[in-house]
Amino acid sequence: METNSIKEILNKKPIGSTITVKGWVRTFRSNRFIAINDGSTLKNIQAVVDFENFDADLLKRITTGACLSIKGDLVNSQGKGQEIEILVSEIEIIGDSNPEEYPLQPKKHSLEFLREIAHLRPRTNTFGAILRVRHNLAFAIHQYFHNKDFFYLNTPIITGSDAEGAGEMFNVSVLDKKNIPLTDEGEVDYSQDFFGKEANLTVSGQLEAELAALALSKVYTFGPTFRAENSNTTRHLAEFWMIEPEVAFNDLDDNMDLAEDFLKYVIRFALENCVDDLEFLEKRLLDEEKSKPLNERSDMPLTEKLRFVSENNFRRVSYTEAIDILRNSKPNKKKKFQYLIEDWGVDLQSEHEKFLVKHFNAPVILFDYPAHIKAFYMRLNEDGKTVRAMDILFPGIGEIIGGSQREERYDILEQRIEEFGIEKESLMWYLETRKFGTCTHSGFGLGFERLVQFVTGMGNIRDVIPFPRTPGNAEF
Ligand code: ATP
Ligand code: MN
Repeated sequence: METNSIKEILNKKPIGSTITVKGWVRTFRSNRFIAINDGSTLKNIQAVVDFENFDADLLKRITTGACLSIKGDLVNSQGKGQEIEILVSEIEIIGDSNPEEYPLQPKKHSLEFLREIAHLRPRTNTFGAILRVRHNLAFAIHQYFHNKDFFYLNTPIITGSDAEGAGEMFNVSVLDKKNIPLTDEGEVDYSQDFFGKEANLTVSGQLEAELAALALSKVYTFGPTFRAENSNTTRHLAEFWMIEPEVAFNDLDDNMDLAEDFLKYVIRFALENCVDDLEFLEKRLLDEEKSKPLNERSDMPLTEKLRFVSENNFRRVSYTEAIDILRNSKPNKKKKFQYLIEDWGVDLQSEHEKFLVKHFNAPVILFDYPAHIKAFYMRLNEDGKTVRAMDILFPGIGEIIGGSQREERYDILEQRIEEFGIEKESLMWYLETRKFGTCTHSGFGLGFERLVQFVTGMGNIRDVIPFPRTPGNAEF
C-alpha cells in the first residue's frame, strides 16, 4: 500500500479514494479528531475517528508526538478549518509517545527551550518551516549557478594552509594530548602528527576556489566552514555553511552585479516556493515583535521585506563616502555610537552597518575599503591605500556577503604577503597561479545561515541550523 505525503494529498485532493498517511500526532481532540503532520508541509491533515469502532486502549495511545499510520477514505470536511479530511478505517500505532514525558506540548515553547531539545525541535511548526525554507534556498543556490554554467567545487575541509586569514582556526590533530612531542625549540612537533604537518579545519574555501576558477572560469563552493571565534553574537556560529563563487575575468563591478542578481534570485525562489512556510514565519515574527519596543520592530512584514529586497536596486557606496555619511550622522554627533567615527581608515562596526542600511533604506554594497583592514589577496587600487573589496549589508543582519576582486599581479601580491607577515613559502602554490597565465578574477562568500536568517526572519543564527555549534556548546 502506497503511503501518500500530506503535501501531495492536500495538493491533489483525491476525494473518494482510499489513502494511507504516516506521520506524528500534533493533537487529538474529543476522542475524534487527530491532527497529523508528516513534515512534508506545514499543514496537518485531519483524520476523523469514529470511536465506537475502535478499541478504547488503542485510542488512548493516540497522544501528541506518537507516530501513526492511518488508512481511510478522503472526503470533503464537514467542519470548518480544513477543506478535506480522512474518515479513518484503520489505525496502526507505529511508535508510542508517553504524554507525561514528551516535552513538546501543543502550546508555545520559547526558542531558548527548543534549543535545548534540538533533537525534537524539527517537529515544531517553526523549525519545520525553517528547515524547509533552508532546503529550498540550498536548492535555489545550486540551480542558480548551474543555470549560469558554474561548476560546483568541493574544497578541502581539513586544510594544511594556515594563511586563509579569515579567522581563528580549529586544530586537527591526533597527537597524544598527554604526551605532546616537542621540537628542540620547545614547540609542538607536528611532523609526528597525522599529516606530518600542522592541519586545521578550513575557515574559507576561497584560495582553493581561485585555483579552479583559473582553469574552469566559473566555479562555486558550498560547504562547511569553521571559525574558532569566541564571539557570542546572534550572527556568528563556530560551524557554518558558506557559498563562495569565484569567476575568472570578473572585475569588482561584475562581482557586485553577480552578488546582487544571485541574492535576488534565491530570495525570489523562496517567495515562490515556500508560500505557506513564509506566511507562517511572518505571523510568528509579528507576534514575537509585539512584545518589543516600537523602534526595534521591523518596518515591514517579512514577505514584504523579501519582495522589497528582490525588486529594488542595492545601493553601491564607497567606504570613503560611507565614512563621510557616518561622521556627519546624528548618532555620531550626539555620541550615540559606541565607536565614534572620526578618521578615515577605521573598521566599521555592526552599529555603523545598521545605520547605513537604515539611512539608504535598502541593502548596501560598500566597496573600496582601506587596504590595512582587509585581507592580503584583495586587489590594490591605483591610490595605493584602498583595495577592491566589497561587503553587502542587509537590513537586520548587517554583513551577509564579503568579497573582492583578487590581486592578480605577481609582484604586488608578493609584496602584500610580505607586508602581512605571512611566510611566502606557505603560499607558493597560490602565487604560482599569478605566474602562469594570471588574469583578473573576483569572488565572494555568502554565509548560508545569515541568508536563512534573513529569509525566515529569525533573530538568532542558532535557530536556522539544525545543530548549532557555538562557544561552550556542541550538543548532539
Ligand atoms: P563578520 O564581520 O560578520 O564576522 P567576516 O568579515 O568575518 O564577517 P567573511 O570572512 O568575509 O566574514 O566571511 C564571508 C561571510 O561568511 C560573511 O559575510 C558572513 O555572511 C559569513 N560569516 C562569517 N563569519 C561567520 C560566522 N562566524 N557564522 C556565520 N556566518 C559567518
Ligand atoms: Mn568575522
